[in-house]
Amino acid sequence: MSVRSEALGGCQCGSVRYEIVGRLARAYACHCRDCQKQSASAFSISIPVPRKNLQLLGPLASFDKRSDSGAMTTCFFCATCGTRIFHVSSRSPQVATLKAGTLDDASGISPVSHLWVSRKQTWVQLDPAVPAFAEQPPDLASWRQTLFDL
Ligand SMILES: [Zn+2]
Ligand SMILES: [Zn+2]
Repeated sequence: MSVRSEALGGCQCGSVRYEIVGRLARAYACHCRDCQKQSASAFSISIPVPRKNLQLLGPLASFDKRSDSGAMTTCFFCATCGTRIFHVSSRSPQVATLKAGTLDDASGISPVSHLWVSRKQTWVQLDPAVPAFAEQPPDLASWRQTLFDL
């Protein structure tokens, strides 16, 4: 699903809705402990979206969290039901990290990269053909750019 003119999504209760204008980048999975907490599951699935392409409606709330790297991450969620919608890092405030499970149709989403597999739950079996990093990619900005280029 790398090329689409738009994509729609929203939270679990329907109060927050969004539309992504333009081409949708590729998705990646992160298996770090923060993402396990955030997703309340085994890993998160995210898609980088330029913030100017993310059009939102509804009651968002947020909190700030300092990451291990020292950057500040602002986490946006539905103020009514709490569904996490996207994150923004102080390191790259022009890009939102969209939580891909909130897309109305996530059936075509397949991660092209796995991060922090050193923390992944043992039962999660990865496709050996999909690149995996023990932690995060050494050059995060260049790696993220490849998600737009693929
Ligand atoms: Zn909601
Ligand atoms: Zn993570």
